[in-house]
Amino acid sequence: MDAYFFENRDFFANRIEELEILSRSSRTAESSDQSTEVHDTAVCVRIRPLTEEEIGWDHVQGVLRDNFGAANIYEPRRKVNGKPDLNRTSFTLDHVYGPDSNTKDIYNDRVQDLVQWVGSGGMSMLLAYGQTGSGKTFTVSGMEKLVVEKLMDGTVSGKWDVHMCIFEVAGSNMYDLLNERKPIGILEDPFGAMQLVGVLEKKPTTSEEFLSLIDVAKELRSTETTTKNDQSSRSHAICRIRVVNKESPNSPEGSFLLVDLAGSEASADTQNHSRERMAETREINKSLTTLKDCIRARALWSIGRGEASQKHVHIPFRTSKLTQVLKSAFDVSNTQTCKTLVIACINPSILDVAHSKNTLRYAEMLKVPVPKAKPRP
Ligand code: ADP
Ligand code: MG
Repeated sequence: MDAYFFENRDFFANRIEELEILSRSSRTAESSDQSTEVHDTAVCVRIRPLTEEEIGWDHVQGVLRDNFGAANIYEPRRKVNGKPDLNRTSFTLDHVYGPDSNTKDIYNDRVQDLVQWVGSGGMSMLLAYGQTGSGKTFTVSGMEKLVVEKLMDGTVSGKWDVHMCIFEVAGSNMYDLLNERKPIGILEDPFGAMQLVGVLEKKPTTSEEFLSLIDVAKELRSTETTTKNDQSSRSHAICRIRVVNKESPNSPEGSFLLVDLAGSEASADTQNHSRERMAETREINKSLTTLKDCIRARALWSIGRGEASQKHVHIPFRTSKLTQVLKSAFDVSNTQTCKTLVIACINPSILDVAHSKNTLRYAEMLKVPVPKAKPRP
């Protein structure tokens, strides 16, 4: 398809522009978000800009945010008579951020509330999902910086202590990114909580100190990348922050999980068929599927309907290492729910639309439609 695209590049570029203009004039009002956040999971899309390099290669933007807040995907097609054509599919989630939105915009809209929730003893989780190169690490790193700056205010003012650790889940192994990639483990305690074993927790006192620890982890992760065939896109990186209130030590501690997920294209990896690689691919697929199942099961439970009624809810967190680690985020026996934001990251290039479509389908599945309120008799 790539060669076919380049043969007809200008046709596709012009046609997308035409269709976008048409779609703008065919609808009148800017519809608001389709947001149905009765439960605590929001799913947003972030379409990154084309990089300088991609522009240099003559790529065309095949995923666009329209004025109505939807993500439109344009797929090149070849008609029977050999003429090029385009297919459009639209997706609407809680919000679609286009290439002009920066990380701070998303933070202001969606993440500062999560930080506040953590400061008051709640639990929050941010997950970045998408294929390799879609902007997950860019988004999570940028967000970490803003989250840390805000949270460390409380430490500097003496209100709370912040504890943090950063680790990687690769296949069914976990490695400490603040302790020379030493292997770590996980155990379920008698109360059903999952405890990390052997992880090095740090207690930074300023945001500079915290951010330099993030850099250490990032450095370690990328060193591995060059030696091990892009390992970083094949593992999940998790930064866990715990906030302990010093003024009222008995109040529950807040926690924030920031998760840079493994590349979602793993399922399409047909280049490398080594046994080890295939097992790893299976584990990544399983973990991303299980993650979706856990998020859906919890959302169903929280709106109390269908199979997962309040009494019997099955959250299949045991199926993968990733979901074991994140268990507390899905745990319905927790007294307080975890506020979750999923950012589905999109590479806008028309050459990647197949992957982008998969990402948006996954994002859609995370959203459990909230039943309409019954009219009062
Ligand atoms: P991933 O972690 O999903 O593999 P990266 O975060 O490494 O993807 O992003 C791929 C490339 O795109 C990087 O060069 C990154 O700097 C760039 N990039 C990603 N998101 C943005 C953005 N919102 N604005 C500008 N550049 C971006
Ligand atoms: Mg990355």
